[in-house]
Amino acid sequence: MNKIEHIGIAVKNLEASNKLFTSLLGAAPYKMEAVESEGVQTSFFKVGPNKIELLEGLSTESPISKFIEKKGEGIHHIAFEVENIEEEILRLKKEGFTMIHEKAKKGADNKLIAFLHPKSSNGVLIELCQEIEK
Ligand code: ZN
Repeated sequence: MNKIEHIGIAVKNLEASNKLFTSLLGAAPYKMEAVESEGVQTSFFKVGPNKIELLEGLSTESPISKFIEKKGEGIHHIAFEVENIEEEILRLKKEGFTMIHEKAKKGADNKLIAFLHPKSSNGVLIELCQEIEK
C-alpha cells in the first residue's frame, strides 16, 4: 500500500459541512460528486498533499445514513492508495481480512475502490483506492 489517500468523514448536512470545512481548512472543496451506487453525495478538500472526503447519505438506506444513526457524525473511513487494487484484494483475503467488496468498483474522484469489513480491522473501515488511468 502507498500513502493514505484520504480520510472520509460522515456528515448529516453536506452543505453546512462544506461551509464548516471551508472555514476550517481555508479552501473550498475542489470537487463535489454523487456516487449513486453507494447512495452518497461527496465533496473533496485538499489539505497540502492530503485529502478529506465529506460524505452525506442520499437516503435513509445509504450506508452513511446508517453509520450516522448508529455512531453519529465523524470519521467514517481511512482510504489507502494502492497500485493494483485487484492484487491487493487477493493479498488481503489471503491474509485473512474480510472484504465488503470482493471486486473493485467505480468510486468517487476517478478511483477504483473496495472496502474492507471493519470487523477484521479493529473496527476501522478501510477503503482501498486506485487511480483510474485517464
Ligand atoms: Zn473514501
